[in-house]
Amino acid sequence: MLCPHCHHNGSRVIDSRPAEDGMSIRRRRECVNCGFRFTTFERYEETPLLVVKKDGAREEFNRQKILNGLVRSAEKRPVSMDKLTKIADHVEARVRRLGENEVSSQAIGEFVMNELKPIDEIAYIRFASVYRQFKDVDAFSKEIESMKKEGH
Ligand SMILES: [Zn+2]
Repeated sequence: MLCPHCHHNGSRVIDSRPAEDGMSIRRRRECVNCGFRFTTFERYEETPLLVVKKDGAREEFNRQKILNGLVRSAEKRPVSMDKLTKIADHVEARVRRLGENEVSSQAIGEFVMNELKPIDEIAYIRFASVYRQFKDVDAFSKEIESMKKEGH
């Protein structure tokens, strides 16, 4: 970081704190050459997050896609848009917390299902049937049976 005063290329950090937006760090620096003090902001790099689909194709992670899937699943169900948005937010946070550059669409689907299950049974089954692509009625009814056992 060049000193704005003397353009020397050495400075030491004398203070460092998160900026208000929570996405950058504010650093107070002092030039080792002339002692001039200045402030820099460092942003966290937003690394692109790729979703690996079943066929191996990759596409950029898209929170809106998750939300769209949720809205479809919860159609005519008593689930507010607010709740669906929160699910999408939680899922995105969980995916990003993994810290990976690539996440399988399957993992994302599981995250969504975990969030959706306690909120609305029908929406959950609809989502699961699309996501897991139940191959036959048998697999589908097994899922419903297991939910009944859990007392839903
Ligand atoms: Zn300087």
